[in-house]
Amino acid sequence: MSKNVADFFACDAFNDEVMKARLPKPVYEALSRTRKIGTPLDPTYADVVANAIKDWAIEHGATHYTHWFQPMTGSTAEKHDSFISPTDNGMIIMNFSGKELVKGEPDASSFPSGGLRETCSARGYTAWDPTSYCFVKEGSLYIPTVFVSYTGEALDKKTPLLRSMDALSQQAVRILRLFGNTTTAKVTSTVGPEQEYFLIDKKMYDKREDLIMTGRTLFGAMPPKGQELEDQYFANLKPRIAAFMADLDEALWKVGVFATTKHNEVAPAQHEMAPVFSTTNISTDQNELAMEVMEKVALKHGLVCLLHEKPFAGVNGSGKHNNWSMSTNDGQNLLDPGSTPMENMQFLTFLCAVIKGIDEYADLLRISASSAGNDHRLGANEAPPAIISIFMGEELQGVLDALEAGTTYNSESKVFEIGVDSLPAFPKDSTDRNRTSPFAFTGNRFEFRMVGSSDNIGCPNSLLNAIVAGELCEIADQMEGVPAEQFDEKLKALLVSIIKKHKRVIFNGNGYSQEWVEEAKRRGLPNYKSTVDCVPHYADEKNVALLEKFGVLSKAEIDARTEILLENYAKNINIEALTMIDMAKKKYIPVCIAYAKELCDTVSAKASLEICACVEKDLVSKVSDLTKKAYDATAKLEEVTAAAAAKDSCILEMAKSYRYDVIPVMDQLRTAVDALEVITPSDKWPVPAYSDIIFNV
Ligand code: ADP
Ligand code: MG
Repeated sequence: MSKNVADFFACDAFNDEVMKARLPKPVYEALSRTRKIGTPLDPTYADVVANAIKDWAIEHGATHYTHWFQPMTGSTAEKHDSFISPTDNGMIIMNFSGKELVKGEPDASSFPSGGLRETCSARGYTAWDPTSYCFVKEGSLYIPTVFVSYTGEALDKKTPLLRSMDALSQQAVRILRLFGNTTTAKVTSTVGPEQEYFLIDKKMYDKREDLIMTGRTLFGAMPPKGQELEDQYFANLKPRIAAFMADLDEALWKVGVFATTKHNEVAPAQHEMAPVFSTTNISTDQNELAMEVMEKVALKHGLVCLLHEKPFAGVNGSGKHNNWSMSTNDGQNLLDPGSTPMENMQFLTFLCAVIKGIDEYADLLRISASSAGNDHRLGANEAPPAIISIFMGEELQGVLDALEAGTTYNSESKVFEIGVDSLPAFPKDSTDRNRTSPFAFTGNRFEFRMVGSSDNIGCPNSLLNAIVAGELCEIADQMEGVPAEQFDEKLKALLVSIIKKHKRVIFNGNGYSQEWVEEAKRRGLPNYKSTVDCVPHYADEKNVALLEKFGVLSKAEIDARTEILLENYAKNINIEALTMIDMAKKKYIPVCIAYAKELCDTVSAKASLEICACVEKDLVSKVSDLTKKAYDATAKLEEVTAAAAAKDSCILEMAKSYRYDVIPVMDQLRTAVDALEVITPSDKWPVPAYSDIIFNV
């Protein structure tokens, strides 16, 4: 393989360049319009496109095709059909029709629907999403699709995303028209997700039932060294990791994923991959693909890639920084402060819409990042906190303050009046200033840092798009029809009123501090510590009103999603609790009993020789005490887990029981076992220790 990436980039993707080369001009142009402006594709063109894709796919080694979708399970789904079609003479031809490209009919009954299926039908449909590229992987043509029920309800994470992109586009274009822009046809939300992950040795992984069953360690004492020296962050790459990353890049580039940044992260064995940003739709597909490829490439290197939000207690967990902005089809980034007065006011309008939206719908954003795994980050003392706030940075804060006060803003030597002069250049934030903020302005975009490392970014981005669409719509409603001579003054007054009312959501200080928790409470900002606290707010009246108004999610779909989130939470904690019980009974407790016996034997032997055995006696009493604690906690855990599982008549009650009855006992069991680990000889300990797992790669 050539090392010039340009020679092989996207060689396995049916991207714009291939379409242009392979499709008849009118078909290519129609498909381009569909992709760029959203014009529906003429159905008669589907056969032409299908045939061209099939020929291309076969040349690239495909024998099968699959509709590739993103159900509510948390991973992607695929079912492969071959292109072969029998002929009269017992042979085959390779066939692929427009119908097969456009629509599939997988059995929906085995995917979570949150009760939607009962109300409509077991049937589900996948429908080709022409705004994302097809690609060939492992002998199959992958066709990105949405997944909906017989009656059109969304059963996946992508349908609401596409709907939200349309809503945002319509409302953003209305705002642009107010500023005299008559040419922009479409505004697209863009995202660049920074993906964090851990890499550990497969041999260690295989010895840990907890990692295999749950993706995280449920036990494990901290080694003498953790991440406190911060010597891992951006450290030079060990050969094995560098080889993995090189292979990963190559695999991703071939299918057209814009992987670009790679580095070591803060925790030992933790790393990051970031792509060049793209539309929220393509980026979502590419991120799902990237996570899958990461796991597969890791195995080739004898490694396991952990995407769980908190694989190891005591060191940082993993997130997915969701860098989000809006961009016009003519290439203008709407969150770029710009350099001319009109752009300034336009920028400030979009900015104020975001501020108002984040304040009014903080709960929706928090919900979009909720899961059992992510609770370990958001609810604990780790980045970012569960309270949603916006980081503006000094310069932009100064601009907002000046706007609110009706004064001029002085940026160093430059004094100017908002909307008259140009805004200062905003430096891209430096990480030390605002690592603690869940929603930070970073020069020309917002970085939403709450998203969990294993999450599908479709959900946060569809809610973010919907929220901002709602605010832009309100602003447009108020400003359309205002006579030109009053426009500036009216708009300024509107923006000032937004800042006054919603500046409580802006916080430029340390988000980890206890003072912020108290200050946020005074400001009336919500602080939902766990999934079970926030998810029930999905269906709050204002949220339903917003999501229904813009056709992003119906009340029935919201209820379904609420149920799926809670169910998923309960199932996850249930599996974790059962895994802990299993490990305690079959591994830790027997090992500790054997160790205690060995110590007792030594005590007896020493007694017969009249030698002091005080060390052994002291140790055996400690081991026995802790073993008793572990034993009791295991019994208690069995009891509370069974009680939680029995609450199946109400999913919220069940999820709450896992949160408030089961998790505390899991913690008790872990505390006892981790204390035993520290006083037991390492060669007797039944599973690899943290030091073996995170420092040995
Ligand atoms: P840092 O770690 O300093 O925050 P990275 O370079 O790791 O930054 O990641 C920044 C991400 O933001 C990249 O994926 C980048 O493509 C993305 N990004 C840059 N501009 C935009 C934009 N206008 N819209 C969305 N994402 C963007
Ligand atoms: Mg980064």
